[in-house]
Amino acid sequence: MAQAQIFHGVGQPLEWRSFADPTPGNGELLVRIDLAAICGSDLHTFAGTRNEPTPCVLGHEGVGTVVAAGPATTTAVGQRVTWTLADSCGTCRTCSRDRLPQKCTQLFKYGHAPLNDGTGLNGTYATHILIRPGTSVVALPDDVTDEMAVAANCALATMVAAVRAMRGHSSLVETVVIQGAGLLGVYGAALLTEAGVPTVLCTDVDEHRLGVAAAFGAIPILATSPEATLAAVRDHAPHGVDAVIEAAGVRHLLAEGVAMLRAGGWYGWVGLVHPDSVIGPTAEQIIRRCLILQGIHNYAPEDLRDAVDFLARTINRFPYGRLMSPPMPLENLETAVAHAREREFMRITVQPSATSLRSGPPKN
Ligand SMILES: [Zn+2]
Ligand SMILES: [Zn+2]
Repeated sequence: MAQAQIFHGVGQPLEWRSFADPTPGNGELLVRIDLAAICGSDLHTFAGTRNEPTPCVLGHEGVGTVVAAGPATTTAVGQRVTWTLADSCGTCRTCSRDRLPQKCTQLFKYGHAPLNDGTGLNGTYATHILIRPGTSVVALPDDVTDEMAVAANCALATMVAAVRAMRGHSSLVETVVIQGAGLLGVYGAALLTEAGVPTVLCTDVDEHRLGVAAAFGAIPILATSPEATLAAVRDHAPHGVDAVIEAAGVRHLLAEGVAMLRAGGWYGWVGLVHPDSVIGPTAEQIIRRCLILQGIHNYAPEDLRDAVDFLARTINRFPYGRLMSPPMPLENLETAVAHAREREFMRITVQPSATSLRSGPPKN
């Protein structure tokens, strides 16, 4: 039997519902969720600042173990896996010609689908999830723990996509600013550091988070004011930085980012995925300084494969244990969501019948 937390809408209690065990069909996998994480986009849904069809099973970040495999699947029962958060057709114009499977015309996104779509087991706030045929499933090496990999299929793969996009515009990148020391920013710092970028700066208003980003390779810059931030960046890059990645979701940072860039610099926008994102810089600033702006939303299957490879390569290099809370019980998801709002950890993780039952995670 599978069980899931059903979201009925803002302010309504979650419903812990049982499902008959679904039998995976052609190309489908039934995966037991071993660990899930509460992403910022889920917090927006719980708060009503983002709309999802209801009722639904929320949650898209997670790792699990294949417990049943339908015909025409290549992943073995018992394999620990992560999977792309979108299921795409692979054949439409957007998938094949434009190479943006995350924008497939038939797109299905886990954790964002109504309960009446398929089996209903479409999100990670559940004991099980049904993985569809157009989803890329990536096996997890034994030494990559659930805790390390739980956000690989959202935050980490997205930043892999951002770094790949940056590389697509310039192979000579010596200085990068990451705006925001949340999980996206921390992963970005680690990816760029490991890729050999000599100077990776990270700006944020939160000293604790900056400390974590520093442990993942960034030079921290406490953003006390736009002027002070710009001056600190100029100390490291008097001619402007080669690239900026916006990973904070704060719109006033866009003007700061534009001001930091050298002529011809690249600006990747990742975090501002909400309507409160009217941009401040003038077109003239962009034109006169020959800047390149690029939006990055979600990622392609190759980015998730690269994300898992990156984790395997850097197990001993970065302190992954500092990012995730100890697992909290999925049965008390409301409590876990309240903890996630306190931003004490980069992510609160949840687990069905978590062994570490307690009212809240310990301080790290
Ligand atoms: Zn996410
Ligand atoms: Zn498609």
